[in-house]
Amino acid sequence: MEHVHLNGVTYRGPRVPVVVVCIDGGDPAYLDQGLAEGLLPTIARFQREGFGAVAQGTMPSFTCPNNISIITGAPPAVHGISGNFYLNEAGEAVVMTGPELMRSRTILAQFADAGASVVSITAKDKLRRQLGKDLDLARGSVSFSAEFADQCTLAENGIENVLDLAGMAQPDMYSGELSLFVLEAGIQLLQRRRPDLMYLSLTDYIQHKHAPGAPAANAFYASLDACFGRIEALGAVVALIADHGMNDKSLVDGRPKVIFLQDLLDREFGVGDTRVICPITDAFVRHHGALGGFVRVWCRGGKATPKAIIALAGQLPGVELALDREETCRRFQLPPDREGDVAVLADARTVIGAGEADHDLAQLAGHRLRSHGGLSEARVPFILNRPLSAEYRDRAAAGLSSHQIFEYALNAVEA
Ligand SMILES: [Zn+2]
Repeated sequence: MEHVHLNGVTYRGPRVPVVVVCIDGGDPAYLDQGLAEGLLPTIARFQREGFGAVAQGTMPSFTCPNNISIITGAPPAVHGISGNFYLNEAGEAVVMTGPELMRSRTILAQFADAGASVVSITAKDKLRRQLGKDLDLARGSVSFSAEFADQCTLAENGIENVLDLAGMAQPDMYSGELSLFVLEAGIQLLQRRRPDLMYLSLTDYIQHKHAPGAPAANAFYASLDACFGRIEALGAVVALIADHGMNDKSLVDGRPKVIFLQDLLDREFGVGDTRVICPITDAFVRHHGALGGFVRVWCRGGKATPKAIIALAGQLPGVELALDREETCRRFQLPPDREGDVAVLADARTVIGAGEADHDLAQLAGHRLRSHGGLSEARVPFILNRPLSAEYRDRAAAGLSSHQIFEYALNAVEA
């Protein structure tokens, strides 16, 4: 198969199936714990015989921006997706979770156009349309979500009868099984159709609820490890990445450690003068109460200036960084037209919300809050089951970004 080009990178056509798995919320700490307890023999072997490192993920360390960085091989400044929504010039919230605002094609679509058969499976349907952007399903390519596995059609997904394929019942939206369904369906497709390229994107339900070493987390990771072993046994190049990590954001007494930034700004500058946007927010807030480690502030009324907001936010305990738009975009390669006037980043133990009334903490249902979004959750595993070429070994030693995982899986290993 021929090479394809996207965003300045040339990708070699796969000679054996290449399978990239995004372990949603796959903080390196889960692997460290599982490896220390001897629960992850496949991943241990990948690291020993192939390659294993920790890479820098896309900021903010949320699901959508990172998945899109991974499938475009580029940062948000290029692909345009910097969160779940942003505020436009009219002050209206604009949702970014669809394919409409993506400014890049995807590696998957490029390969499908070059004649490859491509499979994209995601846990939650909200990612499906972005992952499937421009993906031509006419020549055997497939794109579906585990969430709507029972509703797949040839016209919309390139496949039907997915429950039969996976040999599993429709998994619950809030479960670890949703991720295992993605892997099982992927394994069955790999076995039966041997596609050229697969992207399997899981969900972080378990990581939001369970710390590394907790029985449920260990059991989940042992199941993932077994699936990775089966994918490798089918002759595939296997690449493991995560969209973001995960940290405990609770006080000793179990209550979440939250800075309600909108309330503080309202007190200082008046109600309506500023608008705090939590770009982690979506329809599925049961995991995290819409509280993450990265928020954007827009100046709306003329009283607060970026400088004054930075001065106020920067000295709050639990805030790691407060930056103006220019500096935020420069540091994290973000698109300026979708960035707030100020970005405020929490430290590893803290989350930042809008107003206290905007967040329903009862949804945590007694669990400690575990979440992501800040710099502390932007470190992710970067693992391949085969060794790197000398050239890529040198390049990797100089630093890795998670959005390079397809390049490494396609170009850096012996097929
Ligand atoms: Zn995620």
